Amino acid sequence: MKTVLISGAGIAGSTLAYWLTRHGFEPTVVERARGRRSSGNPVDVRGPARVVVERMGVLPELLAAATRVTRLSFVDDHGRRIGGMAMPSDDIELPRADLARLLSSAATADYLYDDTITALHQDPGGVDVTFENAAPGRFDLVIGADGLHSAVRRLAFGPERRFIDHLGIYVATVPLPDLVLDPHEVLLHNTPGRAVALHPGTGRGGAAFFFRSRAVPDFDHRDTDQHKRLLADAFAGGSWRIPDLLDQVPRADDLFFDSVSRVRLGSWSTGRIALLGDAASCVSLFGDGSTLAIAGAATLADALAAHRDDHAAALRAYESQHRRLTKPKQRFVSPASRLLIPATSYGIAARNAGTRLLSAVSRTRAA
Ligand SMILES: Cc1cc2nc3c(=O)[nH]c(=O)nc-3n(C[C@H](O)[C@H](O)[C@H](O)COP(=O)(O)OP(=O)(O)OC[C@H]3O[C@@H](n4cnc5c(N)ncnc54)[C@H](O)[C@@H]3O)c2cc1C
Repeated sequence: MKTVLISGAGIAGSTLAYWLTRHGFEPTVVERARGRRSSGNPVDVRGPARVVVERMGVLPELLAAATRVTRLSFVDDHGRRIGGMAMPSDDIELPRADLARLLSSAATADYLYDDTITALHQDPGGVDVTFENAAPGRFDLVIGADGLHSAVRRLAFGPERRFIDHLGIYVATVPLPDLVLDPHEVLLHNTPGRAVALHPGTGRGGAAFFFRSRAVPDFDHRDTDQHKRLLADAFAGGSWRIPDLLDQVPRADDLFFDSVSRVRLGSWSTGRIALLGDAASCVSLFGDGSTLAIAGAATLADALAAHRDDHAAALRAYESQHRRLTKPKQRFVSPASRLLIPATSYGIAARNAGTRLLSAVSRTRAA
């Protein structure tokens, strides 16, 4: 086993490319985007992922690119702080695309940008791959690290509706370059079933909108006009800074909107094709997805190195080890979403009072 095609130069794909090269494999990465991007929604690197990036030697770059956020504050209609919590101090939080760019800069793989896999045919000796732009190729293994709406999963496992559950929440994020905020603080405003967060980012702040809703029947994650309509309807009549933020959405060049979703598959591999990161086990918002993507990539590379001549044994070892991390995260969605987006006024008041009490207790302990 030598040649590995990775679909997706995101967090999982870039980390995998790095470790496969280190283990003597020859990875090729195909990425739909035109090149390495920067910015994006802030994500976290913590726990097992912090260990992996340290071993990759990119921890100093990640720390330099990190946000300086230390606190999440809940605000009322007048912007007054009515609760909140400190952010864990060991976490590294940085824009998603910055993280992927720094991880991919560390890897010495062949990159095919602005391209995607269009067909996969495997036989006992390898996988024949057709691309939209590049010439067809044959690889020993193909790994789908191409996110929630994975093309590899669709081509090798079946249509995504069989594997994705809508978790009753939609999320939208929009960069707001003119937003001026305290660089240490994220602001969160709630009404029942709705939340709007303002994040200072790293010089380029942004807003995130969350709302509870049943699955929209004709929802299309690529239809920006539909997203703008859904957002305007969900937050119509909103207070605080919401009217002004909504005014900016139609002019935004980079609106992200999607269902908060869970991906579940009975098996993450079929023959010589396997899935990694969100493609295998996404919990879009509340599941430490970026940490799991990094940790899973390192586990997969180690398993392939340990079972060089037996891809089936390697993929089994990867899956059984990494599922131990993903399973608890997939169960954690409800409590986390109740904290961020309480469904009722009572839920909002109880959360705010609870966090005020916790802060008072920790201040007393510190005194
Ligand atoms: C709004 C939002 C906020 C989040 N906040 C957090 C957070 O605070 N903490 C946290 O840990 N996680 C967070 N996450 C989750 C985290 O972003 C993901 O779990 C993580 O990015 C998964 O990494 P990945 O590499 O599997 O997928 P991605 O980062 O999505 O990367 C997939 C890559 O594949 C490429 N691709 C897609 N389709 C194709 C194709 N057909 N062909 C080739 N390439 C393709 C994409 O362009 C991308 O580069 C958040 C997610 C969202 C949506």
